[in-house]
Amino acid sequence: MKGNLLAQYLRIKAEHEHAILLFRLGDFYEMFFEDATTAARVLDLTLTARNRGAPDEVPLCGFPAHAAQPYIGRLLAAGHAVAICEQLDAPGKGLMTREVVRVITPGTILEEESLDPTAPSLLAALVHEAGRFGLATVDFASGAVRAAELPGWAATRDELERLEPRELLLAEALPPDVVTWCGPPRPWAVAPLPAAVVSEEHDELPPLAARAVAGALAYVDRVFRRRPAHLRPVERWDSAGVLCLDAATRRNLELVETFRGERRGSLLWLLDETCTPMGARRLRSWLLWPLLDLLRIGERLDAVEALVERPEARTALRTALDGVGDLERLAGRLGARTVGPRELGQLAAALRRVDAVQAVLATIPAPLVRRLSIALDGLPDLVADVSATLMDAPPPHTRVPGYIRSGAHPEIDALREAARDGKGWIARFEASERQRTGIANLKVRYNKVFGFYVEVTKANLGAVPPEYERKQTLVGAERFVTPALKEHEARVLGAEERLRLLEQHVFAELLERAASRQPTIARTADALATLDVLASLAEVAHRRRWVRPRLTRERRLVIREGRHPVVEALSSEPFVPNDTLLDTEDSQLVVLTGPNMAGKSTYLRQVALIVVLAHLGSFVPATSADIGLTDRVFTRVGASDNLIGGESTFMVEMRETAHILANLSPRSLVILDEIGRGTSTFDGISIAWAVAEHLHEAPERPRSLFATHYHELTALAAERPRVRNFSVAVAEWQGRVVFLRQVVPGPASRSYGIEVAELAGVPASVVARARTLLAGLEAGGGPGHEVDRSGIVPEDRAPRQLALFPGAEERLRRELAALDPERLTPLEALATLARLVAQARHGA
Ligand code: ADP
Repeated sequence: MKGNLLAQYLRIKAEHEHAILLFRLGDFYEMFFEDATTAARVLDLTLTARNRGAPDEVPLCGFPAHAAQPYIGRLLAAGHAVAICEQLDAPGKGLMTREVVRVITPGTILEEESLDPTAPSLLAALVHEAGRFGLATVDFASGAVRAAELPGWAATRDELERLEPRELLLAEALPPDVVTWCGPPRPWAVAPLPAAVVSEEHDELPPLAARAVAGALAYVDRVFRRRPAHLRPVERWDSAGVLCLDAATRRNLELVETFRGERRGSLLWLLDETCTPMGARRLRSWLLWPLLDLLRIGERLDAVEALVERPEARTALRTALDGVGDLERLAGRLGARTVGPRELGQLAAALRRVDAVQAVLATIPAPLVRRLSIALDGLPDLVADVSATLMDAPPPHTRVPGYIRSGAHPEIDALREAARDGKGWIARFEASERQRTGIANLKVRYNKVFGFYVEVTKANLGAVPPEYERKQTLVGAERFVTPALKEHEARVLGAEERLRLLEQHVFAELLERAASRQPTIARTADALATLDVLASLAEVAHRRRWVRPRLTRERRLVIREGRHPVVEALSSEPFVPNDTLLDTEDSQLVVLTGPNMAGKSTYLRQVALIVVLAHLGSFVPATSADIGLTDRVFTRVGASDNLIGGESTFMVEMRETAHILANLSPRSLVILDEIGRGTSTFDGISIAWAVAEHLHEAPERPRSLFATHYHELTALAAERPRVRNFSVAVAEWQGRVVFLRQVVPGPASRSYGIEVAELAGVPASVVARARTLLAGLEAGGGPGHEVDRSGIVPEDRAPRQLALFPGAEERLRRELAALDPERLTPLEALATLARLVAQARHGA
């Protein structure tokens, strides 16, 4: 690497330490030193070196500039920022001027190719003071800017997880544990938040929100080199107005993705019948932030209902929306002036749909729909302007002229005429030269090196006139230029260059006129996205025969014939609907028992999903649903059902349980599935029992569903006034268990574990042995283990069931009774004895 080039590189790199510097060298972007090693790994490029073997060896890799976009996309996806350094001079001798023209960070991407159409791409900023947090987000692609002040780390963390920004900017004064949590392996890149002065326009925001926004915008200014014009005024937001769904609940309910991280099988996948990417993103955010405001929910439901009841209007609306595309992000790129002719054409095509949308909306009598309709503006003057200026189906870039419609600009038409006439001129020139020289096969041609030339074969060289200037000798011919030809060439090329510049100028003016309407386009896109969601919700409600839920202020939950939307859609078995009743007086805690695979988890989740759906303004899979306003939905799944890596799963389960118990509210819905399973039986039952008791006794009286395979828990109903036993029914038929999928009052008769094992194909000999062992246990177990085969727990058994939580003596007695000395090896016997002695001494 030459000294002065290296010096230039190092100077520019020093200004962009946090980014991978793409250094333009001719047709390539090259990366050097550490950037080269990183990029070679991320992009799977071959790492080479300049001055290989020398002490000043420089590692190097690169890719062609014309194919840069996918490489840049992958660097961004891997969390790197990218600084694009171009050469600003025309090729020549000596060191060229080079400058960084744009920095792209994972949170400031505008390029459509590098964005996920179904999820927002956010830049977030986090500041902290005295336990409170300021959080700002910039949706760079659409231009939306939002800010909030949050009361504590738990709420802030939850918002961050829900927002899942691509890039998170951290202020300096954050608590160390917050910084650690925000770092890898979170799914976002982290960068320092620049200190910034809060501007007056953000005065009305809470102070920390204003600080976060100021920092985020300062960062944007820095990477974009100027404030991008498409950023909209800051919207204040407040997490208090939405249904709280913590991370574990969102995961357990598989709201936007399944346990396996797939979209298919999630509730969002089922719900998404949107016609535009912006509608899909809006639906996702409705699902992640359901509402608590009965009026707003009611407005959405009114709109959905009106669309359900009018199939023709619904279809017409969806057809009209179908061609709109991603107007929201187009509007963003328009504001940032990064759209080319093709995208401007698409924008006009989208706006042209607005008329049809408005025509349909006029037939739908719902206040929300009417408001959205008023917000729409198809900007017919702009659309006419674009169609009059651009050709149909214009190219993406302005490099090659020809995209301005003829008739749009007189000088462009004249220049094109001249260029077209150029072809006629060549033909006439060729004919006249043939005649003048008598060379019948004389040809006039063009190539990139010589421009226009005359070609004469060897045999005719004698007839060449003196003013012909020889340029090149081939095997059978020679090539010449003439003064007339040169003059023509200058005229043609001049016209082409002039045409290129003129078309670019005309386009730039059109772009400015369009960009001046950007706020209106953004508002229209916003309304179209919402309409798309409403139409999608109505379409799903219609196709799947869902009903409108009734939301009330009472703390009751009454669902008739509820179904699990996704299981119903994906299962080959016909789905068995089930009722639910939860309230704060009689049926506050339902203990649900039944064998494995009976359908307990499905039932629990369907209740939670119906509640979430109702709060986002959707119809629900049931024949009727009265849903008391719910401000938190908590769900936990016992450890052995869950697939969280790393930390001990039981530890995770307990931490999540602790979180629920610490955050109960009077309007909470708590769904616990096999809590306490991840440890030994006695531990597990004890924990499950204590948790259930706590839920029952809590002054908030949260509505709770508790599924468990510990039969012992069914005794709670006899003890506590607001506990009800339900079970998922099974039948025995020819010695086999048949799942009925019906939720019925009363506890499960027994666990049917052996029958399920048999169904699953466990060998007959093992099944038979298990039956023998079970019979032994049932006969010899202590009172707590005695399970009545009829499944009915008589009232008088209740006190005995409490012996479940025996004192140390009782537990020792039981352990001893369960021992079979015949079957113990001497070593086992010794170990058991030691354990029992220790237990006796410590009163465990
Ligand atoms: P459990 O939690 O009791 O072990 P699951 O809820 O996981 O059982 O249900 C097991 C399977 O039974 C589910 O995967 C589903 O396919 C089916 N299932 C559950 N409930 C129903 C129902 N109400 N109607 C039809 N099939 C059901």
